[in-house]
Amino acid sequence: MTALLRVESLTKQFPGVLALDNVSLDVDAGEVHVLLGENGAGKSTLIKMLAGLYLPSSGRILLGGEEMSFAAPRDARAAGISTVFQELSLVPTLTVAENLFLGRLPSARGIVARRRLRDMARAALDRIGADIPLGAKVSSLPRSAQQLVEIAKGLLGEARLLILDEPTASLGDRESERLLELVRTLSGQGLGIIYITHRMREISQIGHRVTVLRDGRLIDTVPADTGEDRLVELMTGRALEDLYPSLPRTPGAELLTLHDVTGPELHGISLSVRAGEIVGVAGLLGSGKSSVGRTCFGLDPLHSGRIEVQGKPLKQLAPAAAITRGIVYYPSDRRHQGLALCRPLFANITLGSLRHAKASTFGLVNRRRERSVATSYVERLSIRPGDIGRRTELFSGGNQQKAVLARGLIHGTQVHIFDEPTVGIDVSAKADVYRVMSELAAAGKAVLLISSDLPEVLGMSDRVYVLHEGHVVSHLTGDEITESAVLSTFFGEASTTTPGGPSA
Ligand code: ADP
Ligand code: MG
Repeated sequence: MTALLRVESLTKQFPGVLALDNVSLDVDAGEVHVLLGENGAGKSTLIKMLAGLYLPSSGRILLGGEEMSFAAPRDARAAGISTVFQELSLVPTLTVAENLFLGRLPSARGIVARRRLRDMARAALDRIGADIPLGAKVSSLPRSAQQLVEIAKGLLGEARLLILDEPTASLGDRESERLLELVRTLSGQGLGIIYITHRMREISQIGHRVTVLRDGRLIDTVPADTGEDRLVELMTGRALEDLYPSLPRTPGAELLTLHDVTGPELHGISLSVRAGEIVGVAGLLGSGKSSVGRTCFGLDPLHSGRIEVQGKPLKQLAPAAAITRGIVYYPSDRRHQGLALCRPLFANITLGSLRHAKASTFGLVNRRRERSVATSYVERLSIRPGDIGRRTELFSGGNQQKAVLARGLIHGTQVHIFDEPTVGIDVSAKADVYRVMSELAAAGKAVLLISSDLPEVLGMSDRVYVLHEGHVVSHLTGDEITESAVLSTFFGEASTTTPGGPSA
């Protein structure tokens, strides 16, 4: 069977940029074929060639087995390829009906033409189940309705292939659902659809196959039920083990030191974290590792022993005092990490920190300043979507975690204690968290990484303490940090390595 669309070795060379490099793929009638790739991967370039906006540098486009050559968008449309770009092409001051038939108004004159126009417009909207008044000015419609008009317009004539470039990017949840439903219906009618999206969830909902592009090259075409982790791996080119950045760092003075710390779950723990260092704490459930972080932050009681920050004892053990002394703690349970979920994101990012610092004037929080500080951190941490006014609960777990991170970064803190920082978040959010940790250490901060995720501890740490039943059972440095070395002491067996003290 001939594919509806066949793209053969398509290449587009711009001056100095090879935007698309020898890409081949095909789309069947009735198929929803997802194009996936990071920004700059070449998705738009590919569809612009299919839409007749760019001429290929080389390669072939076949539609229904016939080679096409599009000198202009009108040629592609005439051949049956309709493209809905992110920037809509409607004229805001014209009505829905006028927009639908812009450039192809019925040729007959007077009243007859007008009635025909209306009937045809009605039929076009009915086809996609859109209930939109024909006489309404496009500028008066919400974005979702404008998009439907654009799609209806694209389906006029003999469309065989519909290309949608991130159609849900600017839609709310309910409108997105409806759009996905429409895509399903249209593919059910035999239309071939190329669908570009960044929303991973949509892929398994409507897609049949996914083609992944990276740096202008085709990486693979895989079934749409391929797992999200794998898709991210294909998209980013990072194997899961390569998630851990290695920025150069030089350990300096001890910033956090625990001397013989004893509490309900800890029995004489001594450890240290230097400036410019990531120190891992590993151990099984019940090893007491979480209590290390909680004790430093004043959330678990200290029975005896001493905690020092920059060589000076922490006298008062409470979160507020710890923050004042330059410790920030990121707890594992994000629902309990002090996010006000019903408040907008920026309020959580700047919470409490700006009253006396960056965004305040005369003791009042300066709203605009607060927002601009929040925005800069949203960009730095790639929080998605980047809408700081959106309610915090609407963000994914990974993005909520990043909001907590942003809050810690605004404090300009010296000591960063992470407890299970990546539990339950997706791969790309993990990569962001690791990047930030790595940047913190490179900037001379002390990072304590308490984690049950062994690959993460092995991949990120300069030194590792392994805890068992409240004791440090081994202390590993550099090349000693291997999976077998950590595992061999997980259950408390005697280790060949000496348990490390603060200055080990
Ligand atoms: P995507 O849509 O996947 O984000 P694009 O197709 O827009 O990627 O871009 C692919 C590459 O081609 C990028 O490096 C981009 O900068 C470059 N590029 C895109 N359009 C042009 C153009 N008109 N002129 C020069 N370079 C371009
Ligand atoms: Mg693009």
